[in-house]
Amino acid sequence: MNLAPVTIGRLVHAARRARANAYAPYSRFAVGAAALAADGRIFSGCNVENGSFGLTICAERNALAAMIAAGQRPVAMAIVTRDGKATPCGACRQVLAEFAPDLPIILASETDDGITVHRLTELLPALFRFPPGGETSQK
Ligand SMILES: [Zn+2]
Repeated sequence: MNLAPVTIGRLVHAARRARANAYAPYSRFAVGAAALAADGRIFSGCNVENGSFGLTICAERNALAAMIAAGQRPVAMAIVTRDGKATPCGACRQVLAEFAPDLPIILASETDDGITVHRLTELLPALFRFPPGGETSQK
């Protein structure tokens, strides 16, 4: 999927707005994500940390969950961090790949300098698929 500059701009803007609401008192690393649906709607999320650190939820999975709850599937996602260089964590890569293995991933900062577009297959070249190995029967 080729993303038009206007589409990238809309997604990055939505991710920046979500990032402003990030709850990150422990890491101070605010993240915003915005996922584009095939119907043009955008679903956004921010990271939500917790004092029990393992319960922290990433911006990417929050945005994706809102989209899935609305019956949509992702066709692109923008992620905004301080410097625009952070890529999704391994857990988010795997969860995103469940719905769109070759999802375009836009990385951006709070400025329009240095926006980059990646593919999920590039970030997660050997995703886990169930059943492992493609077997259809279970023992
Ligand atoms: Zn993550």
